[in-house]
Amino acid sequence: MTDLPQQFASDNYSGICPEAWAAMADANRGSAPAYGDDGWTTRAADAFRSLFETDCEVFFAFNGTAANALALASLCQSYHSVICASSAHVETDECGAPEFFSNGSKLLIAETTDGKLNPQTLRALALSRSDIHFPKPRAVTITQSTETGQVYSVEEVKAISAVCRELGLRLHMDGARFANAVASLGCKPADITWKAGVDVLCFGGTKNGMAVGEAILFFDRALAQDFDYRCKQAGQLASKMRFLTAPWVGMLENGAWLNNAAHGNAAAQRLASQIADIPGVELMFPVQANGVFLSASDEILGKLRERGWRFYTFIGGSARFMFAWDADLSRVDALAADLRELAG
Ligand SMILES: *Cc1c(COP(=O)(O)O)cnc(C)c1O
Repeated sequence: MTDLPQQFASDNYSGICPEAWAAMADANRGSAPAYGDDGWTTRAADAFRSLFETDCEVFFAFNGTAANALALASLCQSYHSVICASSAHVETDECGAPEFFSNGSKLLIAETTDGKLNPQTLRALALSRSDIHFPKPRAVTITQSTETGQVYSVEEVKAISAVCRELGLRLHMDGARFANAVASLGCKPADITWKAGVDVLCFGGTKNGMAVGEAILFFDRALAQDFDYRCKQAGQLASKMRFLTAPWVGMLENGAWLNNAAHGNAAAQRLASQIADIPGVELMFPVQANGVFLSASDEILGKLRERGWRFYTFIGGSARFMFAWDADLSRVDALAADLRELAG
């Protein structure tokens, strides 16, 4: 039973994709050792190593807030700080979890209008103070793809990591929508992560088609020391771990992760192209991943809501539409048609 016609308020409105579901059903045959000592978990970690072409350390958490917060905590002491863009999920949507799990590492906010951190602002903020009274910059986090539906190119990530290396900062990537970025760039996962200077990646499974779960990949293995204890203490060690990891096997071993993301991206492109010529409806950001941000009058947006469409306006007042693996293209067309009619 579904309770609403399909909505695009968020990509986590979607269900579980068939590949993840089938792997969970497989994992449900019989019993297996608990807390990650099972075959599925080993296979999932190996699938990540082979996908990223490197011998990284891999951990699994229930959600992105925990993955980000624990990853950042592992990079910092309590007196350190973490530089992020003003629109970063870690700043705006994690209820202080990064500060909490790091015992106080402060987030330093770089104001950006387009949702991206850039090397100049990063450098200026990192060098703004060096005295004992200010929390010492130690890490940088960027979101790929961004909260505004954009993608950092390989060159952009490299430019940021170059500043990080120069200033002794570690680079974390919030990849709640990492798959959408890879699908958009057409690059290899390695190119946009460790080969471009990323130390730690949180790879989102939930928005990519799983029921629940994110993977944390440490490309610098030394940074992963005792991370298993951190996960356990934070209540993030799943006792029936195989149900968190089997879906990854189902999605990574046959490319479903990338196909799912490509479908979401294509749905976003489809909406963007259909509304491009509607007067009074403007795209707020370039559409590079699976999200479309529209500015339109309160009247148009109100009427859109009256017609039953759900969407958020928490980013700069623009209406956000997010597309997942299951986006029904006829619903995308219906949304575009409603916008055209209401704006006309
Ligand atoms: C969804 C999301 C997360 C993870 O959120 P949870 O609800 O904690 O799983 C992290 N970062 C970004 C950018 C997100 O969009």
